[in-house]
Amino acid sequence: LSRSLQESRRLEALGRLVGGIAHDFNNLLTVILGSGQLVRDLVPAASPADELLRTVIQAGERGADLTGQLLTFSRRNPIALEPMDLNEVLQEIEKLVRPAVGDGVRVVTDYAPDLPPVRADRGVLTQLVLNLATNARDAMDGAGELGLRTRCVAVAGRPVARLVVSDNGCGMDDATKARVFEPFFTTKPVGKGTGLGLATVYGIVNGLGGTIALESAVGQGTTFSIDLPGDRSAGNRAARATPGRPRPAP
Ligand code: ADP
Repeated sequence: LSRSLQESRRLEALGRLVGGIAHDFNNLLTVILGSGQLVRDLVPAASPADELLRTVIQAGERGADLTGQLLTFSRRNPIALEPMDLNEVLQEIEKLVRPAVGDGVRVVTDYAPDLPPVRADRGVLTQLVLNLATNARDAMDGAGELGLRTRCVAVAGRPVARLVVSDNGCGMDDATKARVFEPFFTTKPVGKGTGLGLATVYGIVNGLGGTIALESAVGQGTTFSIDLPGDRSAGNRAARATPGRPRPAP
């Protein structure tokens, strides 16, 4: 078995386990949050009981946020897919990436004009890129170069839109690389990392029917490549993706 196949089977088994637990916890949290809110309506505003209930509800919401990310990892959060131009979505996401990475990070973009439309969801694409970008910022300690690039590649004879997110930060050793997509795996200090960023990215890519690959070298940097299958329902893909733009040489 190839290493990446073994790796995806391992993550799939982990996804089933985590998804089952997260699903049940999510149901319990719904009861806690719903009941908490109802009781809060019964107690006088700004009373000690009201304060305590607010704390309970806040903790419950934090828990619901975590289970939400775990459900994304395990692909139990359905995504509504529609055809879109990845380049166009990235140009929007870029506006959020720049403030997220800070002034010390130069954002370099290069979007291929011949990209096939992909079936995706803007919200999850935004989450995916922001998770990768904030990790890149941390790896570069706030100063360096973040690359956001797209390329059209053929996989098994079919056009695929490839998104490449790269940084020239600290990179990862092999032991870290082997575990990055696991939920709760983090090398960051307590309170800084949740270890859910890349698990969520992994779940999103899976939910979009894509694949993710990672290259990293200690002291040099890290590159994530995400392949999203072209939208097969699309008619004239070149015309739909970028009207009127010339097609580059392969
Ligand atoms: P978190 O960021 O909360 O630690 P993630 O799942 O996003 O959780 O990342 C897991 C770990 O993977 C990080 O703690 C870090 O060790 C490593 N990592 C992720 N992205 C990068 C990167 N771009 N460069 C170096 N290490 C990274």
